[in-house]
Amino acid sequence: MRILIISDVHANLVALETVLADAPDFDELWCLGDLVGYGPNPNECIERIQEFPHVSLAGNHDWAALNKLDLRSFNTDARDANLWTQTTLTPASREFLNQLPTQLEKGQFYLAHASPREPVWEYILDANVAYANFNYFETPICLVGHTHVPIIFELDEQQRRCETLIPPFTGPVTLGPRRMIINPGSVGQPRDGDARASYAILDPEHQIWEFRRVTYPIEITQERMRARGLPRRLIDRLEMGR
Ligand code: ZN
Repeated sequence: MRILIISDVHANLVALETVLADAPDFDELWCLGDLVGYGPNPNECIERIQEFPHVSLAGNHDWAALNKLDLRSFNTDARDANLWTQTTLTPASREFLNQLPTQLEKGQFYLAHASPREPVWEYILDANVAYANFNYFETPICLVGHTHVPIIFELDEQQRRCETLIPPFTGPVTLGPRRMIINPGSVGQPRDGDARASYAILDPEHQIWEFRRVTYPIEITQERMRARGLPRRLIDRLEMGR
């Protein structure tokens, strides 16, 4: 069994299609939230992932697009892009986003968009925040998105701390025996200085996790964003991966 793990697609259909074409055959798709916001193709991304057996979570941008949270918590560009998204979503897209959970358990995996402690909001950017979050789920492994940075936090129970493992790795990672919080990075707006779309492949039977990156035609997404009048800074940041 192979599972395609994606997060933070942010309506970047070109990046999503590139990931789908690059990934080896998979049995299920798990999306960790923020399908929309920032990018030019929200409805198309929502329709595309429903073509696969999937689970999907709600992220803060998905909630904002439904007016489920206050847009004043967003910076100006994110707010403007989200307002455009609100006017663009079809009734079917709204319905899809509206029924998404913010967290769920799949066997030995706990899934949350942001963190187990604050599923929609908290950024797990460092080992201290990650360490505190191990108290908020019970499974061996937790998968999160939200920061747009691929990373593994590994719990050292004896030392009461977390170790941080940052890709690239020389090959796939074997999960366990320590508990882990893993972020696959962002498909549609990476922020680790690498502009390529980021995703992962999980083999739960063999406990294998593989981080993957793929180059996509960023200029096509940028052109679509320009045509829709989306904020300049959001267009420029795609090619910087920041
Ligand atoms: Zn996001």
